[in-house]
Amino acid sequence: MTKRECYDICIENKRNSLSSRIAARDNALAKLESNNPRFAEIKRLMSALGAKIAITAIAGDKKKLKDMEDTLSALDEERRGIVKCAGIEDIEYECENCHDTGYCAGKICDCIKRAATELYIGKLSEVAPIGDCRFENFDLSYYPDTETESGNPKKRMTSILKLCREYVIKFDPKTSESLLFTGNTGLGKTHLSLAIAYELLLKGYDVIYGSAYNLFSKMESEHFSGHSDKSYLDAVGCDLLIIDDLGGEFVSPYIQSLVYNIVNTRLLARKPTIINTNLSMQDINNIYTPRVASRLLGEYNAKRFLGIDIRQQKSAAK
Ligand SMILES: [Zn+2]
Repeated sequence: MTKRECYDICIENKRNSLSSRIAARDNALAKLESNNPRFAEIKRLMSALGAKIAITAIAGDKKKLKDMEDTLSALDEERRGIVKCAGIEDIEYECENCHDTGYCAGKICDCIKRAATELYIGKLSEVAPIGDCRFENFDLSYYPDTETESGNPKKRMTSILKLCREYVIKFDPKTSESLLFTGNTGLGKTHLSLAIAYELLLKGYDVIYGSAYNLFSKMESEHFSGHSDKSYLDAVGCDLLIIDDLGGEFVSPYIQSLVYNIVNTRLLARKPTIINTNLSMQDINNIYTPRVASRLLGEYNAKRFLGIDIRQQKSAAK
């Protein structure tokens, strides 16, 4: 599901909720009309008076018009009193800005944006641990502060965390760089990319996150069933695409060209992408062809995660 589809669902929900409240109120008023003769009479009187007022206004008789308007407002007050006594409430809008239409001055209302973001994050949490992955709980104490051949894990991860936080603050779907997170499994690549996804979703950006396996198999089945290339088009068109665990899928020649097309199309459109992988650049070169490797090497800001598998550290500590 994309963010835009979430907007559509939330707008429809909001309108349905308003329609059902209006229908319930109309129903109660119709019952009142058939049970309360005075209420029915007031309704008839007000309707007749309304027509007369229009004619009198055209004729220009101001005194008569004023008397009629006073009568009309007295009738209206009486009508309101009866409605109130019957316990029928006025329609209260959930959102005063858009009156539950979902649109405000021709644009999607903030109430819909909030609801859609919540819905989207809820859907995403069914396939990825987005609820647990925040910058605030990215625990640097798991990374040893020692020099290794590849560098100091704590220093490296401190600087990657800083880069990710700044990435969110400065994010621009037309100018932000693409990132390639490499390194062994269990070092926080998924955690940090989900934290980025979460923050940017809250800011209202259209972020698509998925494992390479899930994203590509959906695209492949849509393509070969001949229905559409919807998932592919969504992935190349969104503000930020995050492909988790590149290399975790079965790589056919179709997948090779799919990966190249996604990477290349988004680079040409200057749209940022984040790719996580346990593979080395040499593996990427061998598995996805040199043209994919050269695009990633040349255009992505590559960051190698260092440290000791955190899942293993956590289970050893138990
Ligand atoms: Zn609204």
